[in-house]
Amino acid sequence: MRKITVININADKCMGCRACEVACSAFHASPKYSSTNPERSRIRVSYDQLNDIYLPVMGGEYTSAECNARYTITLNDKKYEECGFCRASCPSRDLFKDPDSGLPLRCDLCDNLDNGALDEPWCVKWCLNDALTFEEREEEGEEPEMLDDLEYGVRSLIDTHGLEKVVDAVTRISKRE
Ligand code: SF4
Ligand code: SF4
Repeated sequence: MRKITVININADKCMGCRACEVACSAFHASPKYSSTNPERSRIRVSYDQLNDIYLPVMGGEYTSAECNARYTITLNDKKYEECGFCRASCPSRDLFKDPDSGLPLRCDLCDNLDNGALDEPWCVKWCLNDALTFEEREEEGEEPEMLDDLEYGVRSLIDTHGLEKVVDAVTRISKRE
């Protein structure tokens, strides 16, 4: 059996306060909780106040190539912009990329609920409007392998620059230390 964790998003309840972005960036600050910067958040809220559209989306996998899918989605008479639901960290936009390093940011479920110390994700805890809710359940199957942030970042560098260049850079840096 494996544990399935789900963050449900109810966009109609989102009021665009961005507390989830602040909370997520605080959790992932170094040291933890020492600063906030929504650009470092792994949940981002698209915001169209005039049309009453707020859409929270968690960062998913990165992709080294831009896709060619373009579409709009209309739900409850609200038209969501192209890419609005997409979770990818992709070359065509700045979303879900660390603003300093450019490395991809993905929701890690608060580092997989901080090894048992958290009973719910930070974005859910600070969403006082219940636009985000959390549930856990068990299903048949094996636990998927989760790369940590470092492995994930290195993998994206290898995909972008090639293994040889990354190894060369690490070798040069290690000789300087
Ligand atoms: S679950 Fe944790 S890591 Fe994922 S978006 Fe929410 S606060 Fe960020
Ligand atoms: S904290 Fe909740 S209501 Fe506020 S922006 Fe995030 S999802 Fe929307």
